[in-house]
Amino acid sequence: MPLLEVTELRTYFETEEGVARAVDGVSFAVEPGEILGIVGESGSGKSVTSLSILRLIPEPPGRILPGSSIRFRGEELLALPEERMRRVRGNDIAMIFQEPMTSLNPVYPVGDQIAEALRVHRGLGKREARGRAIELLRRVGIADPEERVDAYPHQLSGGMRQRVMIAMALSCEPDLLIADEPTTALDVTIQAQILELIRELRDRTGMAVILITHDLGVVAEVCDRVVVMYAGEVVEEGEVATIFRDPRHPYTRGLLQAIPRLGRRVERLAVIPGTVPSPTAWPAACRFHPRCAYGWDLCVNAAPPLFEAGPGHTSRCWLEEHPERRREVDSERGAFPTTVGAAGEMAPAEAYHRRAAAEGAAPPPEPAPPKAAPRPLANDPATEEDVER
Ligand code: ADP
Ligand code: MG
Repeated sequence: MPLLEVTELRTYFETEEGVARAVDGVSFAVEPGEILGIVGESGSGKSVTSLSILRLIPEPPGRILPGSSIRFRGEELLALPEERMRRVRGNDIAMIFQEPMTSLNPVYPVGDQIAEALRVHRGLGKREARGRAIELLRRVGIADPEERVDAYPHQLSGGMRQRVMIAMALSCEPDLLIADEPTTALDVTIQAQILELIRELRDRTGMAVILITHDLGVVAEVCDRVVVMYAGEVVEEGEVATIFRDPRHPYTRGLLQAIPRLGRRVERLAVIPGTVPSPTAWPAACRFHPRCAYGWDLCVNAAPPLFEAGPGHTSRCWLEEHPERRREVDSERGAFPTTVGAAGEMAPAEAYHRRAAAEGAAPPPEPAPPKAAPRPLANDPATEEDVER
């Protein structure tokens, strides 16, 4: 039995522009001890998915629609009374966020905050909790934990604060850790260290992890499997090795090419034209079609289901049924380079992070917005209307 099973999750928000279908029929499972990556651009519904799992969606304006299911060890979380749900949050599923300052209280020493969690959730006494807090700080790689335990959050670096957050999350010995962009605010070297820490903790404790990120490079570093989200839906899912070797969905291919690499010109990074549309106005049929180089009539007229692309590998794209279309477009514009880095190299993301760590290099600048989208459907009047809908 999977540790966590999310089925047909729909989380909508009432907004002034209408109903935002932020998460719209998402299904995936997490096995015990597994690190599952959820990847997608900003606005694709990753955070709303994780907040839904913990039932932390503000209602209103949000609501999880009937028909959605979130089972943890077989138990339906969406049916639990709030009091039991609080126990799940304290003991079974822990979450860490991108910016630790928003979750750490600035007026208390970090050790007190960890100790407090231990006293509430584990029922430890004061002295015992402090000892355990020091032990946890050591375990997440903080030097001199006996001194650092009395430091205030602002006295620590960003990487240290993220370690404190992880220590706090670990204090309840969770079976599942949800880490939402835990390294996005950190520089490349620290990011690599935090990812290494997460993997090491998984290896040591056997906890499962959902790692949310917009960077497939991060996924390559630590994840076993990956779910690619776009516009509130899962568009591709598979083993990380499979996704890097044989990405099927044009969106996944774009994300792969967007992995920052050293020694490449910035223009090469901006490969997915346009931006994620508003969740109150998803494009009709395939939600990615206005940005897709492969799109044709079918994509505007019918929503693609998740196709089986191989063992444990799915893709929500009509190209699975029409490989001739993929060949046609590839021959026109040059095939997708399947080994994204130079041939024979290790996974591009790994190579990048290693090199960056070795050179102590700063992350490359943000890619400039693309000049113009390839618009294979631009002559189709239905397209623009659909987008506005
Ligand atoms: P991601 O984490 O992938 O960047 P999110 O899950 O945060 O994306 O957001 C998905 C969409 O849901 C966004 O368009 C966002 O504006 C919308 N959304 C999230 N929270 C709220 C809210 N409280 N009210 C209205 N819309 C929201
Ligand atoms: Mg987010």
